[in-house]
Amino acid sequence: MSYQVLARKYRPQRFEEVVKQEHITKPLANALTSGRLAHAILLSGPRGTGKTSIARILAKCVNCESGPTAAPCNTCRSCREITSGHAADVFEIDGASNNKVENVRELRENANYMPAQSPYKIYIIDEVHMLSDSAFNALLKILEEPPAHVKFFFATTEPNKIPITILSRCQRHDCRRVDVNSIIKHMALLCEKENIDISTDALTIIAREADGSIRDALSLLDLIITSTVESIGTDQIVDILGGLDRQSLFDMSQAVFEQNAGKIIEIIDRLYDRGQNMIKLFSELLEHFRNLLVVKLGGSTGALSDVSEFELNAMQEQVKNIPRIYIHQILDILFKEENNIRQSSQPKLAMEIAFIRVIQIRPALSIETLIEKIDILQKGFTEKLPAEGVSYPNHPAPPSDNVSKPAPAPENQIPPNITPDITPNARDYQPPIPEKKAPVHEVRENRPSKIYEDAPQNDRNAQIKDEPIEKSWEKILTRLAGDNPALAACFRDSQLKKISDSQLEIIFKTNQFNINYANRDKNPSLIQNACSLYFGNDMQVSLSGRLPKNKSGMAQKKEAKALENETLNHPLVEEAMKIFNGKIVEIKII
Ligand SMILES: [Zn+2]
Repeated sequence: MSYQVLARKYRPQRFEEVVKQEHITKPLANALTSGRLAHAILLSGPRGTGKTSIARILAKCVNCESGPTAAPCNTCRSCREITSGHAADVFEIDGASNNKVENVRELRENANYMPAQSPYKIYIIDEVHMLSDSAFNALLKILEEPPAHVKFFFATTEPNKIPITILSRCQRHDCRRVDVNSIIKHMALLCEKENIDISTDALTIIAREADGSIRDALSLLDLIITSTVESIGTDQIVDILGGLDRQSLFDMSQAVFEQNAGKIIEIIDRLYDRGQNMIKLFSELLEHFRNLLVVKLGGSTGALSDVSEFELNAMQEQVKNIPRIYIHQILDILFKEENNIRQSSQPKLAMEIAFIRVIQIRPALSIETLIEKIDILQKGFTEKLPAEGVSYPNHPAPPSDNVSKPAPAPENQIPPNITPDITPNARDYQPPIPEKKAPVHEVRENRPSKIYEDAPQNDRNAQIKDEPIEKSWEKILTRLAGDNPALAACFRDSQLKKISDSQLEIIFKTNQFNINYANRDKNPSLIQNACSLYFGNDMQVSLSGRLPKNKSGMAQKKEAKALENETLNHPLVEEAMKIFNGKIVEIKII
């Protein structure tokens, strides 16, 4: 009993059975239904994606006894002959071995005779781009004035090698590379029919090796089936195909996230011993980390065409608690190291060094964390000085265990020998959503402000009542500067207006930068608390800006310049530059 390979046994016999080429099969089916099928059709695309299968189905469609039809019966004499490859009026020609002008001349002569048994004479020329120039010229003549009973179906992997004169006389359809998930589904279906026990993980390895080709996938599956006796696991597949098991990639990324150098070296060693090409492995790892980043950014299988759903879930789980900026940093280093590995005489060693470099980085800080750190540092600095303009007695020092210690979250740790990356590249990073809540805010909000409690309430009320509102505002801001200097700086050119005993309005006279910052996150509630504490009752505070609108181009430029100057001189920016020894590369007005 002869074994029929899967690719032949399950060759599609109707349009619906062609995997993932609906964008071609549907228009062709419509053309057949409406009787408008072109006399010359060119099917292009990567190998093993269904070009020749579609050409054969087309031949059946036009020559079926119940045709022309979009759904050939597959039972009539014509259909059966085409399936078996013995149809008298369907000529399958290999363009590579019949590429001479004489071959095409013969074809032309033959084409002039009427079909023997069917409505059409059909010429399927595979790899048509292999024809010689003179052969193409000979073909052009018949394409210009084709006999009514002739149809040409061409297939090619390299349409760019076909002369434009030929292309312009064909209706062109491009087959697409088949995605991993579709290949897996197709193979799983066939394995079920064949009663073959194989895991999704194993199918994933085969599908990826097939690189978008259904035919290659089925050939590999054949190889696996004929090489193994029991149920098929990933180990056998890796041994047979010599490919990379996907689990190793996940093990590797896990080791990187855990910053486990020993494990990384062990995995690289294991794959090296197995004969894995180190350069190819590095490319796979690069792609794997890229996919992890896409998953972290919320990407689905659409953005990850080579990732199965099974893997997507595993990826989501793996990056769940990893800050995306950290994955970005890893990718950054891997990209920089790629050339070293490619050019190294010892790629294994170069790869080990690259990954050791990777695990030495620490997650970059988000903008929010930077602001927090600046506030903490500046606060530590200002509290050492006597508070100017504040006449309240007994200003207590804040509990030292609350504020002066850096937060324990990994994002907030900077090793002394590493400068945080706030170069222009880092500016492009999306700041991560803080995974852990920094305790700084909580500390500030919960800390009792004894300064107000200590003063006798009645005296203070009387004092405040007589005080000009500008003075009150100045005092509130001075106090706020101790707690939150960046926020206080935003109100530098603002005005406080008392609307009622419990309502205040802050009017900005500066720029949008300050207004935006004041409205950000918890800042509105912080300023509201500061006012409430000062006035001794709950105050409702609204923020408003009086920025001139609809200015002329000149005025806008002037304002942009002023805004730039203001940003450059903003205490927050100055402080950031001082602390991180940074420089301003660009100011974007948003
Ligand atoms: Zn038929």
